[in-house]
Amino acid sequence: MAQSCGYCDKPTRGPLASVYWAWFSPDHERIAYRVKYCPAHAKTILTNLFKSWLSRVEEDFGQLCLTCGELLEQDDATLWARVYLPGQEERNIDAEQCGSCMSLISADVIEHGTKLKNRSEFAPARANETWAAIGILPVAAD
Ligand SMILES: [Zn+2]
Ligand SMILES: [Zn+2]
Repeated sequence: MAQSCGYCDKPTRGPLASVYWAWFSPDHERIAYRVKYCPAHAKTILTNLFKSWLSRVEEDFGQLCLTCGELLEQDDATLWARVYLPGQEERNIDAEQCGSCMSLISADVIEHGTKLKNRSEFAPARANETWAAIGILPVAAD
């Protein structure tokens, strides 16, 4: 079975990274998608995003959107990611997002991913310790 990066037209050779994304819709429905990434797209999409999250987590900006750094408001929400990179341990990340970053990221995930059944197979984990333990960012090998 050929694997395809969600962002590439053609099947990609070699192992792909997978990320299971989850969030809650405004009416509290849990939405989950899986997106696959080739090394190039893991680098351009995931690395930039995670770099920004990680830098803000390290600065302990608990009240800020991890993506844009804006102060969080009431309608802000958590985006969960379970990250599988080839040859590495799985990582659970939870990242507070402002409303506009959440809609940008979730729209991108919906466009490039596969919707998962709405089960609790993907239980969100508190992940700040996970981040602290990562040390190294998920940069695809090149
Ligand atoms: Zn790709
Ligand atoms: Zn934001």
